[in-house]
Amino acid sequence: MLPVIALVGRPNVGKSTLFNRMTNTRDALVADMPGVTRDRKYGEGKVGEQSYIVIDTGGISGDEKGIDHEMASQSLQAIEDADVVFFMVDGRAGLMPADALIADYLRRTEKTIYLVVNKTDGIDPDVAMSDFHTLGLGEPIPVAAAHNRGVTVLTEYCLSGF
Ligand code: GDP
Ligand code: MG
Repeated sequence: MLPVIALVGRPNVGKSTLFNRMTNTRDALVADMPGVTRDRKYGEGKVGEQSYIVIDTGGISGDEKGIDHEMASQSLQAIEDADVVFFMVDGRAGLMPADALIADYLRRTEKTIYLVVNKTDGIDPDVAMSDFHTLGLGEPIPVAAAHNRGVTVLTEYCLSGF
C-alpha cells in the first residue's frame, strides 16, 4: 500500500497547484476562481524511490451550503482516506477564520498533519509563518507551489517514516 497524502484547506490556497507539482501533471484544475475542484481527485507521484498517492480536494470554506457542503464532505472523506494531511494555508492572505475552523477539526483527528504555508514567493517568510503558529499544528512549513519551491523537501520529509 502506498502512503496517501491529502491536500486540504480553504479554496484558492493552492491545493491543485501543489497536486500538479506532486504528480507532475496539469490534471487538477487551477484557477483564480475559488472552489474550482469539487470532487476529490487522486494522483500518483514519486520522490526518490518512494511512490505515494496524493488527493486534491475542493476546499473547506467554513460556510458550507449547497455545492460548498459537498466540497467540504469530500475533504473530510479525503482526510479519512489519508495517512498524512497537508493542511494548506495562504501566506499572502494570512490567517483567516476558516483556517482556524479547519485547524480545530484537524487537531481532533488521529492523522499526521503538516501545516503548509503556500505562496511564500516574494514575501518575508518569517513574517508569513508567525501568524500560523497560533493554529497549534506545529511548525509551519513554507512552500511556493507555483514555483515548485519547497515541494520536494516537504514531500521527502513527510514520507521519511514510510
Ligand atoms: P485551490 O483552490 O486551493 O486548488 O488553489 P489553486 O491551485 O487553484 O490556486 C489558486 C490561485 O493561487 C491560482 O491563481 C494559482 O496560480 C495561485 N497560486 C498557487 N500557488 C501559488 C504560489 O506558490 N504563489 C503564488 N503567488 N500564487 C500561487
Ligand atoms: Mg483546486
